[in-house]
Amino acid sequence: MSEATGAPNTQTLAGRICLVTGASRGIGRAIATRYAREGADLILTARTVGALEELDDEIRAINGKTSLLVPMDLRNFDTIDQLGAGLYERYGKVDVLVGNAGVLGTMTPLAHLEPKTWQEVIDVNLTANWRLIRSIDPLLRQSTAGRAIFVSSGVARDVRAYWGAYAVSKAALEMLVGIYAKEIQQSNVRANIIDPGRTRTRMRAAAYPGEDPMTLRTPEEIMEPFVRLARADYTGNGEVVKAY
Ligand code: NAP
Repeated sequence: MSEATGAPNTQTLAGRICLVTGASRGIGRAIATRYAREGADLILTARTVGALEELDDEIRAINGKTSLLVPMDLRNFDTIDQLGAGLYERYGKVDVLVGNAGVLGTMTPLAHLEPKTWQEVIDVNLTANWRLIRSIDPLLRQSTAGRAIFVSSGVARDVRAYWGAYAVSKAALEMLVGIYAKEIQQSNVRANIIDPGRTRTRMRAAAYPGEDPMTLRTPEEIMEPFVRLARADYTGNGEVVKAY
């Protein structure tokens, strides 16, 4: 019940502390604003400070809450450890972790891929999510219903030429989350994957420059599973949930 009105509280994430990576644009930004509508308290990370500040303003207009902005490059893995320590001091727990940040790299044959591109894609899409699990798992366990959601892609399970580092990173991410899900089975934490499908973002435009973006769903249109899997009453674990 809402204390102010006595009306039933229909915000399904009311008061839940939610950490979202890659919140500056695209799918991550839509997750943040949707979670705000559901009453969440948000911790938002990305590298682009201005975009995070604009998002904070928008969220304050939605639910009156100020978000905790943590500008960071996820490739600086030690800052992920510092994030966990800082959140423990401030909140003592995290209810929802959304590992959404990702990079595409270059669409090219494996034999032509630059080592620095390979490394960036593996760092952001895979290693940073393992470092997040390592850093945030103790905080998720402090929640009565910790929920971890990681964002994958159909190419993780569909072998296609030229998707090199990106597809490899997402396939490995799905294995990572599957292992984590088995390890937390006896706890209050649940970990799942969402495959968003073709969505109108900067990354999609980079992968398919000739495509008409108006034929794609917007990030706002694919938010239902992101809310469902973040809720305390969602008990699925180790699942790959398609948003399409
Ligand atoms: P996007 O618009 O390019 O957004 C990517 C986000 O990741 C941005 O907020 C970016 O923020 C952040 N990011 C990238 N590198 C980072 C780094 N080194 N450190 C910290 N943050 C970093 O892409 P999107 O389409 O929304 O993608 C979101 C997720 O959905 C990704 O995991 C992607 O693989 C997945 N996905 C997307 C589609 C699709 O059709 N769009 C389909 C399948 C899966 P900054 O640049 O500000 O750091």
